[in-house]
Amino acid sequence: MPEGAPLPAANALAASSRAQLFDRALGAYLGLAIGDALGATVEFMTPREIRHQYGVHRDMVGGGWLRLKPGQVTDDTTMSLALGEALLQGQQQGRPFDVGLMAEAFVRWWRGKPVDCGNTCRRGIMRYLAEGSVQGPPQPGDGGNGALMRNLPVALATLGAPECLEPVSIAQAHITHHHPLSDAATVAFGQMLHALLRHKEPQQALTTCKAIADHLVERFPKFRYQPYPGRATGYVVDTVQTVLHHFFATPDFEAAVVGTVNEGGDADTTGALAGMLAGALCGAQALPRRWLGKLERSTRMAITEQTSALLALALAA
Ligand code: MN
Ligand code: MN
Repeated sequence: MPEGAPLPAANALAASSRAQLFDRALGAYLGLAIGDALGATVEFMTPREIRHQYGVHRDMVGGGWLRLKPGQVTDDTTMSLALGEALLQGQQQGRPFDVGLMAEAFVRWWRGKPVDCGNTCRRGIMRYLAEGSVQGPPQPGDGGNGALMRNLPVALATLGAPECLEPVSIAQAHITHHHPLSDAATVAFGQMLHALLRHKEPQQALTTCKAIADHLVERFPKFRYQPYPGRATGYVVDTVQTVLHHFFATPDFEAAVVGTVNEGGDADTTGALAGMLAGALCGAQALPRRWLGKLERSTRMAITEQTSALLALALAA
C-alpha cells in the first residue's frame, strides 16, 4: 500500500489542524449528501435522457424516480449515518467497532422505512434478522456498490488508528455485501479519504489517491478507469470507474459532482462518492452555497453532529 506522510500522533494534533481536519471531514460528509441529493434526480436515467430533460443537470430540484423533495437524500447518506451511529454506540458501550451493533443499526434504519434500499442490502438485513449472522456467504455474482457507498464514517472513526480501516470496512461491508471487488473498492476509497483528510497540500493528496487507485487497478484490472468505459451502474466496478474518472479529471467540487451525476445510472451513489472525495479535498467552507443551502436541515445537522463525534472518537485513541 503506498503511504502518504505519516499521521502525527492523533492527540498531538494542534488546534489549527484539528479545525482543518473537521472542515475536511465535514466537507466529505456534506459532499456525500450533496452528491446523493443532486444525483437522485437523475438516478437510472441515461446521459442522453438527462441531456434531453435538463441539458446539464446541476440544480438540486428533487424529483426522480423516488419523487424526492429538493435537497432530500437517499440510502447512501442515511445508511452512512446509521453506520456512524453504530460506531459511536460501540465507543460509548466499550465495544469499539462491534459489528453486531452495525447490523442492529442497519435493522433500525430499515425499520425506519428509508426512501430506498438496494436489493443486496435488503437481503443482508433480512438474513441478519432471520439468522443473526453478521456476515453473509460470498456472493460471486453480486458486486454491488452498497457497502462502498456507506463507508465514510468508518474512515473518520479510524483516522487515528489507520490499521483498523481495512478490517472494520470489511466487517461492515460483509453484513450485506460479500464480494472481493466490493471489499477492495471499499478499502481503497477509505484509504483515499484518509489521505485527503490529513494532507499537507492538495497536490500531495491527489498523488497519494492516484497511487491508491493504481494499486487497486493493479490488483483488479477490471477497475481500470482510463480510458473511461462510460458505464455508471450500481456494479461496484462501474461506480468506481465513473467516480475516479471525474474526480481525477476535475477535482474541483462542483465540476466533479456535475460531471459524475450527468453520467446517469446509479447517479445518487456515484454523485455521493465523487462529492465525498472532492469535499474532503476542498473542505466544507468551500462547498457551493446554493447546494448546501438546499440540503435538508435535519440531514445537515445530523451530519455535522456525527462528524464532530466521530472525529472526537478517532482523536481520543
Ligand atoms: Mn440511493
Ligand atoms: Mn443509488
